[in-house]
Amino acid sequence: MAEHRKIVVVGGVAAGPKAAARARRLDPHADITIVEKDSILSYAGCGLPYYISGMVEDRRDLMATGIGVLRDPAFFAKVKNIKALTLTEATAIHRQEHELEVRDLKSGEVGRLPYDKLILATGADPISPPIPGADLGRVLRLKQLEDADVFRELLAANACPQVTIIGGGPIGLEMTEAMVHRGRAVTIVEMLPHVLTMIDADMAHLLEKRMRELGVRIMTSTRVERLEGDEEGNVAKVVTSAGEVPAQLVLLSIGIRPNVGLALDAGLLIGPSGAIHVNEYMQTSDPDIFAAGDCAEKACVVAGVPCFLPLGSVANKEGRVAGSNAAGYNERFAGVTSTAAAKVFDWNVGRAGMSTAQAKTLGIPTVSATVAGGDKPHYYPDSKGMVLRLIADARDRRLLGIQGVGMGEVIKRVDVAVTALTAGMTVDDVADLDLAYAPPYSEAMDLLAHGANTLRNKLDGLVRMLNAGELKARLSAGEAPFLLDVRTPDEYAAGRLAGSVLVPLGALAGRAAEVPRDRPVVAYCKTSLRAYEAARILAGLGYDNVEVLEGGVMAWPYELESG
Ligand SMILES: Cc1cc2nc3c(=O)[nH]c(=O)nc-3n(C[C@H](O)[C@H](O)[C@H](O)COP(=O)(O)OP(=O)(O)OC[C@H]3O[C@@H](n4cnc5c(N)ncnc54)[C@H](O)[C@@H]3O)c2cc1C
Repeated sequence: MAEHRKIVVVGGVAAGPKAAARARRLDPHADITIVEKDSILSYAGCGLPYYISGMVEDRRDLMATGIGVLRDPAFFAKVKNIKALTLTEATAIHRQEHELEVRDLKSGEVGRLPYDKLILATGADPISPPIPGADLGRVLRLKQLEDADVFRELLAANACPQVTIIGGGPIGLEMTEAMVHRGRAVTIVEMLPHVLTMIDADMAHLLEKRMRELGVRIMTSTRVERLEGDEEGNVAKVVTSAGEVPAQLVLLSIGIRPNVGLALDAGLLIGPSGAIHVNEYMQTSDPDIFAAGDCAEKACVVAGVPCFLPLGSVANKEGRVAGSNAAGYNERFAGVTSTAAAKVFDWNVGRAGMSTAQAKTLGIPTVSATVAGGDKPHYYPDSKGMVLRLIADARDRRLLGIQGVGMGEVIKRVDVAVTALTAGMTVDDVADLDLAYAPPYSEAMDLLAHGANTLRNKLDGLVRMLNAGELKARLSAGEAPFLLDVRTPDEYAAGRLAGSVLVPLGALAGRAAEVPRDRPVVAYCKTSLRAYEAARILAGLGYDNVEVLEGGVMAWPYELESG
């Protein structure tokens, strides 16, 4: 009788168990072993902030199937016929012998597991910054369930009224929400000029504005110099380049790094992103070794460059492909569109594809359009606002990227755009998509289609527009355009761009003489629909100096003047 195929998987959280389970489904006879150095298997890491906030009450829910069965070694053995070795660390790969060296972390015993196919799903770990005091008590990282347990214990003990989050990435922001939910005063310290670098600065500033309204202190362009402790050795304050912040609990969330040590020591190729190089079959430079999940490099299909993109969604897809191929199949993983989503308090944030800045580094000329509006018609009871930005290649009109923020259903629009990005569609194709419509779901002309049409108008030279970030940069550089507010007097009084002049749209034709012809004019309203009309009226009167502020006041994250 032929020997059964031996498949060994290193890593037991997302990509690893997915690969093992897929391989089992395709090859009922294979010997499949998962090696995991931690004590817990196959838990929902993405759910940790919700467990810490208390929204998820029972930690078992993060480790159990939808019907409440715990995914422990007994489950893997009984239900999946997969041997799961927890508290077992893979220490070396002997490629010639096709053996994985492992150490039992309880007994210290070292052994070898023979393999025909090996799958590396070793994930990524939080970066430990070289900050003095980072080893103080109550300075935590968030990666595993045990980390979340420590947060829960401190919160349950009613300790740590002031929390500082170092790093304004998605995990930092989700944890900010969790901490505020648990009644803590939160300060975010971010070294870069804005939080969430996955979106553009002005889009991120909109989110920051909302978070500040909800009581969060955000210190951007601020470097942490050191952490200082109390007499018990617990953190007491964060000393930054902008002053001291009292804090009894600190989360370090400045990013993560792929775990490539095993692969590196075995001589496997590491890609330019720092993650393990794989081909579209998830094979490393050794055809009998696959890599999947956070430890593996991704092909970014829009930018056409390799990248490190540590996401659970991708880890599961890659794990499936690696599992299939380890079981003798020939499946391909097409790559990623760099799609990401986060919920931050009552706002949704999403992005996919490239940003304008990234396109620039690749030498791609772009045009972008930013639009603001509701996710449903204004008359429908729970219509919520959002701001979308679409980015296209100026040469061939191909959609390159999308970003969205707001209370509205941003992620639905991002997901549609992901399909367009994957298919290589132009903005004209996107504008023509026959999207589902009824008032509870969208506007008759969905904001995504409106954004695509705005982008078409810009590409066709029908309108000159600029976004909030671009106008702010010009104002900061000392330019003084005539700011034309075409809203109603009430809207103007409630909040306007500093120094702007009110000429309501309905009165514009009769009062056009108030608008100068010899100076740049920027027209704006609430979202930019009325401003666009105003620009057309002025163009009809021979004005060639009028630009429209994209997204209007809704997409303006900076100061407003009122009264
Ligand atoms: C708080 C938080 C929130 C998140 N939210 C989201 C989200 O909303 N959306 C999203 O897409 N992603 C999210 N992620 C990311 C997501 O959890 C990861 O992308 C995903 O877990 C990656 O899975 P993985 O299996 O590749 O690696 P990991 O989850 O890192 O698992 C790797 C495992 O390998 C083990 N291991 C490593 N080396 C060895 C060794 N030598 N021997 C034995 N075992 C080893 C490790 O102990 C670890 O358990 C979040 C992550 C965190 C921490």
